[in-house]
Amino acid sequence: MLTAFDILLIGLALVIMVWGLSRRWSAWRMGQEENRSGDWAGLFTYIMGHKKILKNRNPGIAHLIVFWGFMIPLLIIIMAQFNFTIPPIPAQILSLLTDILGIALLAGTIFFLVRRVRSTRQGGPKKAIFSLFILLLVLITGFFAEGTRLSIVHPKFIWESPFGWLLSIGLPASPIFMQLMIRIHFFAVLFFIAALPFTVIRHLAAAPLNVFYRRKNPRGELKGIALDEGPIGANTIKDLSWKQLLDAEACVSCGRCDDNCPASISGKPLSPQKVIQDILEQMESLARNSVKTIDSTIPPLESRITTDEIWSCTTCMACVEHCPVFIEPMDKIIDMRRYQIMGKGLLPAEAKAMIRNLEIYGDVHGKGIAHRGDWALNLDVPPIADEGLNPEILLWVGCSGTFHPRYQEVSRAMVHILRTARVRFALLGKDELCCGDPARRLGEESLFLKLAQKNIHRLIEYHVKKIVTLCPHCFNTLKNEYPHIRGDSRSGEKVSIEVVHATEYVMNLIEKKRIVPTYPIGKRVAIHDPCYLGRVNHVYEPPREIIKSLPEIQLKELKRHHENGFCCGGGGGRMWLHEHLGRRINLIRAEEVSETEVDLLGTACPYCLMMLDDGIKALEKEKPPKVLDIVEMVASSIG
Ligand code: SF4
Ligand code: SF4
Repeated sequence: MLTAFDILLIGLALVIMVWGLSRRWSAWRMGQEENRSGDWAGLFTYIMGHKKILKNRNPGIAHLIVFWGFMIPLLIIIMAQFNFTIPPIPAQILSLLTDILGIALLAGTIFFLVRRVRSTRQGGPKKAIFSLFILLLVLITGFFAEGTRLSIVHPKFIWESPFGWLLSIGLPASPIFMQLMIRIHFFAVLFFIAALPFTVIRHLAAAPLNVFYRRKNPRGELKGIALDEGPIGANTIKDLSWKQLLDAEACVSCGRCDDNCPASISGKPLSPQKVIQDILEQMESLARNSVKTIDSTIPPLESRITTDEIWSCTTCMACVEHCPVFIEPMDKIIDMRRYQIMGKGLLPAEAKAMIRNLEIYGDVHGKGIAHRGDWALNLDVPPIADEGLNPEILLWVGCSGTFHPRYQEVSRAMVHILRTARVRFALLGKDELCCGDPARRLGEESLFLKLAQKNIHRLIEYHVKKIVTLCPHCFNTLKNEYPHIRGDSRSGEKVSIEVVHATEYVMNLIEKKRIVPTYPIGKRVAIHDPCYLGRVNHVYEPPREIIKSLPEIQLKELKRHHENGFCCGGGGGRMWLHEHLGRRINLIRAEEVSETEVDLLGTACPYCLMMLDDGIKALEKEKPPKVLDIVEMVASSIG
């Protein structure tokens, strides 16, 4: 029975909890405005199903047990305060359920405690140890109190409290010991409640909120910035949006982002978990010193997150894919890059030539529009500007397909497929500029917008209805980012065009029997999922379906595939940066390919093709697999 003093203590614990939560609320609300709508249905499904958390099996199952082991007894305890009279049998069943869930919760808590204690990661994981220890104290004292009670009132076995009875065997039948356990249990619960906002347990509130406000836009669409108002990128945490700060608040330091980040795995200084934890620590320090601190005295993000870290990111989105609470470390990294480039004018030296090429020539190779048609000499491919064409599709060739000698072969293979299938197609030709992806992912937003606006103007001018792209980066930019941008001042309109990737389109041609793969091209093939096709845009099956449609071929999966696929190291503008820190990412992937023992490696991206080809050659194996674009495989097979 609770005394008036106990009720006072409960009230005090609740007041401290609410005060602490309100402090944290104002800390992440100091971020910039960002429009986000909530999603009750998504939150309900997330909590009930635990699907995203269960992706990492053992900790996922442990979390499921701890969650329900915590919530159900909590509900029963709350209901018990209302003096319901329950018939004996249901009451005994409820008691049995609480007993079983209590043990499950204890097991789950010990699992997490051991995991965190043994973790060799820096910072974050250790923070959870204190909270887990308090939870363990609550559970152990609860069981001890129950065991002692049973040894006093019911020394014989009772089925509705089997674990309590088991404990009662070894516990003294002492009312004083029981009272001691009850008081420690009570104070531990109060401490748990009061400490909630200040420990990792606050994820009970922050994580569902983050899930509620999670991104609804396509994953591949980077948040735009207004260049004429507001901050240009992120210099301090106040330049991040409230949602980006809420992300940091929700981080549970589980390390799944690091476990899948190619930069972390290859020994580069980037750890997405650390980026999030650094932002959180700056938020906490600002909240301690009052959020009204003068802006000029707020330490820059760079004081914790170095430029080596931010330039190591390949924007592969593995961290976004694997975070159990929908945190997006990558968008903070891009905002920090934006500040480096546009705010400070600091661009890694190696990328300068590529950016200059984009500014002057509109392509990453610096060849210019006069040479845009060279790859298709003698192919008689019509530019869309020709009169009376009315093409079914526009083939978007991209900078690599246009200028890179190796990827030009893929462009020609695609032309061969389209001709065989009798598809009416056309090119933008000299009107096609780089889609802007390398500039945008490096943080050069204004250059990206200039390129995008010119392209959009042309697409509108030529009434393009459907685009097929060879490169997944062009595919992502045209499909997910262009619809939110107005064309340049000549048209000023937005585009709404169907965009498909070459693998999707070719698969469709095969299904409709407009082309028939006939000739065998190899025995064993593996597929490398390009990040911007698979993880970012969820196009996993068309490449596989295409391979399966080729004669006499066996498809083998690499160790990491589908959403677990491993980056080639070339995305996010890294194709143009030196890889002088850690191991080369393409070598790590090439080793995985070699382990799989295949004759061919199929991919569907110019960066992946070149990076993996380089990586596999560098391994100097006796019989290395040949790296081909899937489009080339189909073109060879149709003869
Ligand atoms: S986007 Fe990829 S490289 Fe960048 S932090 Fe996330 S996992 Fe690492
Ligand atoms: S960002 Fe997400 S995946 Fe990474 S440590 Fe935090 S909660 Fe875990």
